[in-house]
Amino acid sequence: MEQIMNGQCGLCTHFGESHHSAPALVTIMKSHEAPLNMIDECGHPKHADLHLKVTPISGCDGFVPAAQA
Ligand code: SF4
Repeated sequence: MEQIMNGQCGLCTHFGESHHSAPALVTIMKSHEAPLNMIDECGHPKHADLHLKVTPISGCDGFVPAAQA
């Protein structure tokens, strides 16, 4: 497991946005940890059309903190 810091995809509202209530994503929100081999879609409007896939430790300036569960 990898520690996820504020500003990284794992804690961004756009990470796996189309299925944000999935158990794996909720677990990351609560624990601020994620598996190293995880990858999911970025739903940011500027990225969605490109079907960008990111890891929980990726990041960009479009970061928006996800609401805490
Ligand atoms: S790439 Fe940017 S907008 Fe997309 S999930 Fe990561 S931090 Fe959020």
